Amino acid sequence: ATPVGLLAGTGRGAQLGLLIRGPQVLEDTRRIDTVVLDKTGTVTAGELQVTAVEPFGNLSADRLHALAAAVEAGSEHPIAAAIVAASPAEAFTAANFSSAAGGGVSADVVLDGAAEPARVHVGQARWLAEVGVDLTEAERERLAEAQAQGATAVLVGIVDAEGSRAAGIVSLQDTVKPGSAAAIGRLKEIGLRPVLLTGDNEQVAAQVAAEVGIDPADVFAGVLPEGKVEAVKRLQADGGQVAMVGDGVNDAPALATADLGIAMGSGTDVAIEAADITVMGSELGQVVTSIELSRKTLAVIK
Ligand code: ADP
Ligand code: MG
Repeated sequence: ATPVGLLAGTGRGAQLGLLIRGPQVLEDTRRIDTVVLDKTGTVTAGELQVTAVEPFGNLSADRLHALAAAVEAGSEHPIAAAIVAASPAEAFTAANFSSAAGGGVSADVVLDGAAEPARVHVGQARWLAEVGVDLTEAERERLAEAQAQGATAVLVGIVDAEGSRAAGIVSLQDTVKPGSAAAIGRLKEIGLRPVLLTGDNEQVAAQVAAEVGIDPADVFAGVLPEGKVEAVKRLQADGGQVAMVGDGVNDAPALATADLGIAMGSGTDVAIEAADITVMGSELGQVVTSIELSRKTLAVIK
């Protein structure tokens, strides 16, 4: 292989809308046998819609939605964007925003009729338990029902002088991108094993996997941001040459750990900086094209 030939490959990549960090990347691409795909924003559009708001206590659905929106206003997560976009006109005022990657977000909010602000948390059940909000058996069942519909269901939790309690569920649905199933089909045709990786719940992950043709055994769900790195390492320890495809801030460490990191150009700067290849736009088909291109380029050189 001549460096000149490899560089020609990277030039052709640029024409196709691929940013390839350097000639060595083409060699790395050739060895890949496993492709780990982040779900949200990579396989799915990452444009969620609120499909249901279910209060547990005395808040109305609109009031619960407005409360969640006030807390989410400080977040850039697709969940936050969806909750804020669909929020009713009424509003709460939130202060002291904080966020836990892969868990949820929190803020101080003065609830109706209260003198002191409550700490309000919006996020997944496991993380809410960590901040002191536990679910009753009945609430747990309602969460399971929402998730059985394939929803990304987040809980609203309140901690104040009266104690800790869950205030309700906001259910959201994402959609698989139109080209994702075909792209994953092409990956399999060229002998690569697709793996789905997500912080989202198992039912959502299983539904997306089935829709795009990923083996149920190759789904890692409920994975924390640190866990994305561990999942990549586990596949590598099993002998896999692993490419990771992602778009989010949370994906950056896994992109750097993988043998080949591929970022979606529509994603965050942090992901793009950590990647070896960036594909322009948001189509998973571009990822497959980049792998095919690298292989062809090397075949010509050899
Ligand atoms: P993904 O793998 O889908 O990109 P993340 O790691 O960003 O997921 O988040 C995992 C889970 O953590 C989400 O499905 C959600 O339950 C919870 N979560 C993360 N950020 C937020 C947020 N801003 N609001 C509510 N829940 C959140
Ligand atoms: Mg993502």
